[in-house]
Amino acid sequence: MSRETLIDLLYLFSATTFIVALKGLGSPKRARTGNIIAAFGMLVAIVATFFKYIDGHALHHVGFILLAMAIGVIIAVPTARFVKMTAMPQLVAIFNGVGGGAAALVSITEFVHIKSTHPATYVTLEVLLGVLIGTVSFAGSAIAFAKLQELMTGRPVTYPGQQVLNAIFGLGALVLIIIILSTGSTVLLWVLLALSFVLGVAFVLPIGGADVPVLISLLNAFTGLAVAASGFTLGSNLLIVAGTLVGASGILLTRMMSKAMGRSLSNVLFSAFGSNITASGDGAREDGRTVRSGSPEDAGVLMNYASRVVIIPGYGLAVAQAQHVVRELAEALEAKGIEVFFAIHPVAGRMPGHMNVLLAEANVPYEQLLELDEANSELQTADVALVVGANDTVNPAAKDDPKSPIYGMPIINADLAENVLFLKRSMRPGFAGIENELLFNPKTMLIFGDAKDTLTKILATVKGA
Ligand code: NDP
Repeated sequence: MSRETLIDLLYLFSATTFIVALKGLGSPKRARTGNIIAAFGMLVAIVATFFKYIDGHALHHVGFILLAMAIGVIIAVPTARFVKMTAMPQLVAIFNGVGGGAAALVSITEFVHIKSTHPATYVTLEVLLGVLIGTVSFAGSAIAFAKLQELMTGRPVTYPGQQVLNAIFGLGALVLIIIILSTGSTVLLWVLLALSFVLGVAFVLPIGGADVPVLISLLNAFTGLAVAASGFTLGSNLLIVAGTLVGASGILLTRMMSKAMGRSLSNVLFSAFGSNITASGDGAREDGRTVRSGSPEDAGVLMNYASRVVIIPGYGLAVAQAQHVVRELAEALEAKGIEVFFAIHPVAGRMPGHMNVLLAEANVPYEQLLELDEANSELQTADVALVVGANDTVNPAAKDDPKSPIYGMPIINADLAENVLFLKRSMRPGFAGIENELLFNPKTMLIFGDAKDTLTKILATVKGA
């Protein structure tokens, strides 16, 4: 077997591992294995690439390449290991942005290389698309990171004529690409780079609040397309396959996330959702209605009398790191013959699968996790719905109030249960920034406090009774 054939086979093997890995990522049970398979495939691809070029002396500055890889590893490994689960979306944003930036740099380098070695050759479309999409993804991801890391306001930033201006930037970039394709002008390449950067920032500014994770998924898809464009530029089939997989899966994930929020993608991207939201945050209401609150002990006693309990986790479970104690509570209830399920909303938390990851970490059996529709049918016969740090995902306004910004989002119908125990620290709203009628429902008892502390006290009551 020739060396080229062997390298092509190794690339084919890597491409296959990426597809198998994606399949694994589709289920919480196999996600970890999926990740390891993809990482192994990537390692094989890197080794094969060195093997391919190094002998023919086509690979220059090997020392610099290894140094850059070492720096990347030194930054990425501790960051990925020690990042808090709740800060994962911004980590994904920044890693993704760097990927887009790298793809844009490959395209720029190739452009400059073509022009300096064969000035008469015209550059091809994929080089310029790589610059445009990669830079938009880089600049957009940087702004998304700043929003999620609270380095700037997380709310939509809007100004008059914004969408028209953005359309002009987008059209301007396309016209520039056409001109560069026919003139090969290097000066205009730098103008395209600057315009792409402005477009990336301007595109992301009006998107805020709960929409930012959806945006990150879309930018991730953009990075995939930019990488695929680099694959065409460099003649690398593996980059084309990997980039296309990232692009396609990113677009599918974006669609699934907007669907789970009951919104169209164009609504997520262009409606500046959340710019005019003004929830009171302190529970004061003009109609003077009040909430019913109770103690963890009250909650424990109520649960002891239940025969079916549905636990509804949300972002607050992640903040409180209460996944282990919630599992202990579920076990204690089951030991008393009480049936327990977990109702998982697809956008509970701050990233897709957030609750599945947390509960898997605490060894909650997968069979106990119910998806939205299944959970809603169980809730009809549940004695207690225990809401642990969820808010928007149980807000009845999504089905009852056509004026609500979350109207149309499928929710977990906690209000169907006979009793609702609502664990949160204050009357502050959830991520969408809107008031939740369920807090004022006569069925609901609020237990104020950090979810982990409250659950520990409830557990003590359940065990003690
Ligand atoms: P929410 O963000 O709506 O609410 C979280 C609740 O947790 C708040 O009411 C908060 O109240 C409470 N909380 C926070 N910390 C604690 C704590 N330590 N102990 C007890 N309670 C706590 O959460 P949901 O999971 O219901 O909704 C997720 C939101 O994120 C939705 O709006 C969704 O659209 C959005 N989103 C999710 C994505 C995903 O992929 N998962 C993607 C895009 C958006 P208090 O401060 O009073 O304690």
